[in-house]
Amino acid sequence: MQINVLKFGGTSMADHKTWKKVLEIIKNYEWPVVVVSATARTTRQLVKAAQLAASGDLEGAFEISESIKQRHQDIVDNFLQENPHAKNDLIRESCFKNMDAKIGKLNKLLTYTSRQGKLSPQMKDAISAMGEQISSYLLAQCGLSLGMMTQHIEARRLIKTDNEYGKANPNKMLISQHCGSLETVLENGFTPIIGGFYGEAPDKTITTLGFEGSDYSASLIGGAVGAETIEIWTDVSGVYTGDPRFIPEAKPLAEISYFDATEMAYFGAKVLHPSTLKPAQERNIPVYVKNMFKPEDAGTKIVREADHDLPVLALSFKQNMSLLTVSAHETLMGFSFLPKVFSVLESYRLPVDAVNTTEASVTIAISDDVILDQLSKDFIEIGSVSIERGKGLLTLIGCSVQTASNFRNLLLEPLSDLNIDMISFTKEKRIFNLVIDDEELLPSAQKIHRTLFS
Ligand code: ADP
Ligand code: ASP
Ligand code: MG
Repeated sequence: MQINVLKFGGTSMADHKTWKKVLEIIKNYEWPVVVVSATARTTRQLVKAAQLAASGDLEGAFEISESIKQRHQDIVDNFLQENPHAKNDLIRESCFKNMDAKIGKLNKLLTYTSRQGKLSPQMKDAISAMGEQISSYLLAQCGLSLGMMTQHIEARRLIKTDNEYGKANPNKMLISQHCGSLETVLENGFTPIIGGFYGEAPDKTITTLGFEGSDYSASLIGGAVGAETIEIWTDVSGVYTGDPRFIPEAKPLAEISYFDATEMAYFGAKVLHPSTLKPAQERNIPVYVKNMFKPEDAGTKIVREADHDLPVLALSFKQNMSLLTVSAHETLMGFSFLPKVFSVLESYRLPVDAVNTTEASVTIAISDDVILDQLSKDFIEIGSVSIERGKGLLTLIGCSVQTASNFRNLLLEPLSDLNIDMISFTKEKRIFNLVIDDEELLPSAQKIHRTLFS
């Protein structure tokens, strides 16, 4: 059985018209397993509702939950109206019953949060996973009205994780065991529809895989069932040389490697969750990024080794960064300094985006976070700390040695009127990083893209 795992994101799930497109795409596959995000904006609204509840504004939180309910009911109503089927009354009834139950549960979680007066990570996950729980059930029901054999499968039965709420780590062995049941569902003629983004901890509480986590759910399932392809269906025709929202002349790449795609995602390209490629790479499953609005476009194929000889592959950027410099106390100079710095970072599980060291200091580019102040307190024992906020990180992926060597003309010339805070290049991984002022990030990315890609 050659399974194709198809993932549809928030923009694909926006309204009844896109739901129809999603279902039409699914029809083209013999053995599809489908993973869906929440409808557009829902996850953010859920998080907002949770925060309002925690701050005591339960009424504001309920308003949001009501608007989420209304939006989904409208999608279902419009869908069923445009796609007449003898069973539509039954389908509508089951959709609305399910919605009522889910929104009832959501309101209970919000009430609990407001009583607590704070939002625990566990509660935040339970609330924010509600969007995928709702969308996956409703889409499966709407499939029935097109005469498809779509079947909702609860993601908690498949995606088993630890209990690190907000960024849970999958238990691949358990996921493999549980995903075996998908083959039976397919053999019986049904198409499984699964909510992405969330899973279940050993104590049965809901966990989430981090923002954009539905991509990761899809690749975990794809890895577990040994899929033929994992396909990320979104609103652009693949992975581009730069974020097409900000760099209009960016072009889709025909083929890239797992490594380069992971680096792009890690350094800010939102098109994929940074962990997506891992499960695919482990089993050498090709990952396609395709445009659901232009299915005829080739999209991008992500494979072990991509065939190209470009001077630079793509450009990513990350806003809201800070530069944190720790200068060692004299007593701590030498070998123990760097391990101490990194063990503090480890205790907060903070990923470092770029780093530069001198004999007795280290400068780290790190996502701007509320934790920074706390972090600098922890560094006090090791050295003196300075923090510069308002920075941005610009990264060239797949940057050849020639491009890096010619960086005066290719990179610094377009940026000649700029302050550069940090530069790094690694030949082995072909990553070129520049840290500059955040407000200069976008115009600089556009200029560099123009110089390198036109
Ligand atoms: P989905 O809702 O399908 O998960 P996302 O919004 O998460 O979609 O990801 C798709 C978006 O990623 C695109 O609309 C695009 O603006 C953004 N993006 C950022 N960098 C890139 C890139 N290098 N290539 C393609 N898209 C990118
Ligand atoms: N809905 C979740 C989010 O917005 C997961 C996803 O869309 O991938 O982060
Ligand atoms: Mg996404």
